[in-house]
Amino acid sequence: MKVLVINAGSSSLKYQLIDMQTEKAVAKGGCERIGIEGSFLKHKANGKEVIIEKAMPDHKVAVQLVLEALADKDHGAISSMNEIDAVGHRVVHSGEEFTGSVLITPEVLKKIEALSDLAPLHEPANVTGIKACMAIMPSAPQVAVFDTAFHSTMPDYAYMYAVPYEDYKCYKVRRYGFHGSSHLFVSQEAAKYLGRNDLKIVTCHLGNGSSISAVKNGKCMDTSMGFTPLAGVPMGTRSGDIDPAIIEYLGAKKNMSVSEVLTYLNKKSGMLGISGVSSDFRDLSAASEAGNDRARLALDMFAYATKKYVGAYAAAMGGIDCLVFTAGIGENDSFIRAKVTEGLEFLGVEIDKEENNKRTGDIHDITAKGGKVKVLVIPTNEELVIARDTARLSE
Ligand code: AMP
Repeated sequence: MKVLVINAGSSSLKYQLIDMQTEKAVAKGGCERIGIEGSFLKHKANGKEVIIEKAMPDHKVAVQLVLEALADKDHGAISSMNEIDAVGHRVVHSGEEFTGSVLITPEVLKKIEALSDLAPLHEPANVTGIKACMAIMPSAPQVAVFDTAFHSTMPDYAYMYAVPYEDYKCYKVRRYGFHGSSHLFVSQEAAKYLGRNDLKIVTCHLGNGSSISAVKNGKCMDTSMGFTPLAGVPMGTRSGDIDPAIIEYLGAKKNMSVSEVLTYLNKKSGMLGISGVSSDFRDLSAASEAGNDRARLALDMFAYATKKYVGAYAAAMGGIDCLVFTAGIGENDSFIRAKVTEGLEFLGVEIDKEENNKRTGDIHDITAKGGKVKVLVIPTNEELVIARDTARLSE
């Protein structure tokens, strides 16, 4: 069985074709600048990479081009588009409507569209991708896999904000959390690796966007992102948690509307805003090593905030058996892993410095000898989570 995984943005569309027998991607790529001049498709399969420059006025044309690339005699991975058995879509928000992945019917699609209020930038783009695939592949089952769904098991005292209760009831104001497929994948991999399901795991998805989750016995108990992905630890360009009163104060000082301040907190803050150098941790490390004190400060703030969540979630779960690092920074940045775990010996968290400095590209145990808490580096695979759910629901 072959599953096409689609992640549609407002002007982009990323894809992977996954062979479910091997659970490996046989082709992957992405369309950029959909609806904008200069659109192109970057496609990789059979060890070949091609760039196809073609006008893509909308997502339907983009999907058509992806299918043509996948079935191409020279750089394709299948002989005809009929080999695609099902399509899995990454959808950012499930609200409280869905608590897991779902086969898309016209009713389901309407419900997903109605969630656009909660994610006005991403949900409509996801819906556009779904509609394009439904139009071009009407006989292939389409499945929605939500970024928020894994967090739907949080208890009410963890997901509620202390604003008047009617704002939760009427307007659905609550913590939702994001990166759910990644937290699910790495917590399952950790359980498999350790051969146990009764685990208290803190999963640290540290990438351009970062979030930490508390996972007890396979279920999410709490997570650091909130109503939107702006909450939690400081990120590449997002502020993370701040005192909400700063929004009005900064707006008045800088003559910005609420919406402009929110864009500022999403796009100009975090590591980029503190360092003035970059949002990329490779650049920050190089600048810090060269003596840039603001780059040093940004890295210290990130590690400190992450460490505080590890401690908080250990307290929330009544202990911690395993700490997982994943995503771009979590998988690659040994300095940040060392900084986050430094001083957590009182919890039983200790890492082996030599192991921490190695990069394996696979599950990697960096626990110090005798360390009580298993510390694991686990490459994430959100696409595989989407493909597995799609295969299961379309059978
Ligand atoms: P992601 O959002 O998971 O793709 O992560 C992207 C981020 O990971 C980049 O912006 C970098 O900050 C970080 N990253 C990727 N590779 C490395 C590396 N080798 N060392 C440190 N940071 C890295």
